[in-house]
Amino acid sequence: MRSVLILGAGPAGSAAAIAALAESVPVKILEKSRQRRHKVCGEFISPEACGILAELGVWEQFLRLEPTRIRDCVLHFGRLTKKWTLPECGYGLSRYELDGLLLERAVALGATVGHEAVTNNSLGNHFPTDAPGAADKTAIVLATGRKVAAPPGKRLFGFKAHFEGPAADAVELFFFDGSYVGVSCVERGITNVCGIAPESALHTCGFRLDEFVLRSEALAERLRPLSRKFKWLTVGPLVYSRTVRTWVDPNTYPAGDALGFVDPFTGSGILNALLTGWLSGSAAARGLSSQGCVARCGALLGKPYWTSALFRGLLDAGCAEHLAALIPGSWLFRLTRVGRLATYRLCA
Ligand SMILES: Cc1cc2nc3c(=O)[nH]c(=O)nc-3n(C[C@H](O)[C@H](O)[C@H](O)COP(=O)(O)OP(=O)(O)OC[C@H]3O[C@@H](n4cnc5c(N)ncnc54)[C@H](O)[C@@H]3O)c2cc1C
Repeated sequence: MRSVLILGAGPAGSAAAIAALAESVPVKILEKSRQRRHKVCGEFISPEACGILAELGVWEQFLRLEPTRIRDCVLHFGRLTKKWTLPECGYGLSRYELDGLLLERAVALGATVGHEAVTNNSLGNHFPTDAPGAADKTAIVLATGRKVAAPPGKRLFGFKAHFEGPAADAVELFFFDGSYVGVSCVERGITNVCGIAPESALHTCGFRLDEFVLRSEALAERLRPLSRKFKWLTVGPLVYSRTVRTWVDPNTYPAGDALGFVDPFTGSGILNALLTGWLSGSAAARGLSSQGCVARCGALLGKPYWTSALFRGLLDAGCAEHLAALIPGSWLFRLTRVGRLATYRLCA
């Protein structure tokens, strides 16, 4: 009997597990972390993700966690501010809660979970028997997140902390010094502050993030009534992908950031992870071509990748502010969304 082995229990891995279990195949998840933890993430959940959360069977529980409804989007470039209302509301929920919710759902449906950092060498230990051909019957969903290796020089790092204070229902992005910092609320009125900055910019203030975030006047003003709840978490180096991965081993189904890492300013990484996790888990369970699955994911994600690569180029060249002044905010948002989702059936 075919089975599915999932590497990584982020949104992509858990969505893949739920999709594979819907095909009635045994599912095992291997996750390197033993405990639930906070992750460096803006924690903005794009409106289109709501339908996928419903398909995954977690929508009611998601709402019970009291995520913040996010209605407006505000971009700050120095003194220039650009504000628009989202076509449908997005949500703010911490990754601590979201990842926990999805994994619990997979386990409730029958997935088993082992805790181990899988390497190519240790992978063979997880096939059900040593019989010839056994490995062919176990499809692997690769959902281990983004690769972290990057050459020194123009390296980018991510950081995040939760703050207490007055809550708001907008996601705000502050652009300065080749960096950006997002501020938005998650559950229980907690404010998440998360950013990405080049190593060179962080270096100039000795990597002291409390100092760094005060470099933008607008951001300093926004943070004034807030107080930090836990120490800054950092991650990196971060390497963006210009396109989605195109080649895969016939028995491996990559999903989420393992397919490619889109610039987080798009606020679509979780959406992409849920969507491609579902597609990969379902294809792996059915024994469909992994190459075909990757091509399908690539067709869906092409637009946000293309737009974010262009925007990053403009940001690096110091032109993003001028372009943003000309383009309506709602266009910017639409250009970073996955393609054809409205007419798309996950179970097709
Ligand atoms: C600074 C920053 C801000 C962001 N902000 C947003 C945002 O506001 N909205 C949004 O939608 N997206 C955002 N993203 C993107 C989003 O976080 C990712 O796209 C999303 O987490 C991808 O999910 P995933 O399941 O593919 O990977 P991950 O969430 O990275 O999960 C991978 C899992 O695999 C496990 N793992 C790794 N290696 C192994 C191994 N060898 N063996 C076993 N387990 C392993 C890890 O422990 C982890 O639990 C942001 C990203 C960054 C860096």
